[in-house]
Amino acid sequence: MQENNLYYQSTRGDKKRVLSAEAIIKGIADDGGLFVPETIPQINKNLYRLKSIDYKELAFLIIKKFFTDYRQDELKDCINRAYDNKFDTEIIAPLSKKMGAYFLELYHGPTLAFKDMALSLLPHLLKKAAQKLNLNQEIVILTATSGDTGKAALQGFAKVEGTKIIVFFPYKGVSKIQERQMLTQEGANTYVIGIKGNFDDAQRGVKEIFEDPVFNKKIEEKNYIFSSANSINIGRLIPQIVYYFYAYLNMLSEGEIKNGEKINIAVPTGNFGDILAAYYAKEMGLPVNKLICASNENKVLADFFETGVYDKRRKLVMTISPSMDILVSSNLERLLWAISEREAQKVKELMNSLKEKGYYRIDSEMKKRLKDFYGGFAPQEESRQCIKEIFEKSKYLIDPHTAVAYAVYKKYIKETGDKTRTVIVATASPFKFTKSVMESIDSRYKKFDDFELTEKMSDLAQIPIPPGIRDIEKKPIRHKMVCEKEEMRAKIAEILTL
Ligand SMILES: *Cc1c(COP(=O)(O)O)cnc(C)c1O
Repeated sequence: MQENNLYYQSTRGDKKRVLSAEAIIKGIADDGGLFVPETIPQINKNLYRLKSIDYKELAFLIIKKFFTDYRQDELKDCINRAYDNKFDTEIIAPLSKKMGAYFLELYHGPTLAFKDMALSLLPHLLKKAAQKLNLNQEIVILTATSGDTGKAALQGFAKVEGTKIIVFFPYKGVSKIQERQMLTQEGANTYVIGIKGNFDDAQRGVKEIFEDPVFNKKIEEKNYIFSSANSINIGRLIPQIVYYFYAYLNMLSEGEIKNGEKINIAVPTGNFGDILAAYYAKEMGLPVNKLICASNENKVLADFFETGVYDKRRKLVMTISPSMDILVSSNLERLLWAISEREAQKVKELMNSLKEKGYYRIDSEMKKRLKDFYGGFAPQEESRQCIKEIFEKSKYLIDPHTAVAYAVYKKYIKETGDKTRTVIVATASPFKFTKSVMESIDSRYKKFDDFELTEKMSDLAQIPIPPGIRDIEKKPIRHKMVCEKEEMRAKIAEILTL
């Protein structure tokens, strides 16, 4: 092996170091920890000369620094297959200047949410990884979704040879359009199951299955191997770093900022994946002032940044931003590892405390290292008002998740008076949440259902209905499985005929 390979290790201290292909295949470390890169590669300062670089080239420059065990032609091939005409714009991730802020639209992919940015790439990375490691097992992707990951992963893995994908979503806990997108998924290797529980139940269930040696042995005997399409997989996390650099270069080439000028990044946050990618971008050298972590009523993270206590002992609230209805933000573990100065033992203790007592408290040294972040939350009424205000003032439609980020950004400005230019991550298309968006704008839309409102939204905003959801109402429903949260293993056994 070359000396300049980047290795990954577990946040919980497992001594085994692996290269990216193995980390991508495994999804999670043997000790239940998450894989983290041993060093954060630095960007070349000349990067900023590449103002007009296209998305694919930039993706290559950044991703190759992390996935050093992939050959350059392999990576290029994966990237070319990912960011093609599945996206409805060649720019892939356009930036819209509205209301004095910069909305980074990450929803131009096939399933209308930012999850496409990484999940268009992951299946290709995974397939190559399997070849590199000479695996001959069939890969079973197990995924818990709060609404958007599910469809993006299904879309990415559907009909991919050598894989099966099983998605668990909170039954009745996602938007009508999110649900319909998943239930109509084609591809003989796709399985979608509603669980009678919330996202945290689904995520916990999947993690427990990954860590269950008996169950893993059973599937190995049938020549299967599990992997994950959740943002605990570094194959998902690393590609998300790219668009933060892309946005910066875009602002630079538009003359909105000067070279080296810092920006803020506001991210509507659930599992802490998207904002962690922004933190990695900062660690790589992107000039960032504050990372604004925005939560909805499920404000575990906002409380954590304020008090240093992460406490999940509360009731999950179902909101109009369902992809953020989460109490256990998995990727925070990677931040804990970084701010504890890589003390895996400490991370392990905190994670045990969360599991056993339902909360943990970080020490003051760790808390000091959170100063890059500002945490805040916005209740639904505030995000509804933001949707309405932005539409009335600038004829721009945002979805309820993006609205949470905008609302928290406004609070931040009010509190601090900070004049730093701010990128607001627009994580989903408003067309994915027609009902809550249209009702926020005008209560007379209340009498229509999500599907009827698709056309009305298109008329109102003068935007064509995105191809991903056109006629979705008429597509046949292909997935009807529902189960109790204790039955996840049984359902998998049924699907894989164990
Ligand atoms: C997944 C998702 C989020 C939360 O992203 P995390 O990486 O889980 O923090 C926010 N908005 C939308 C629309 C999403 O799909």
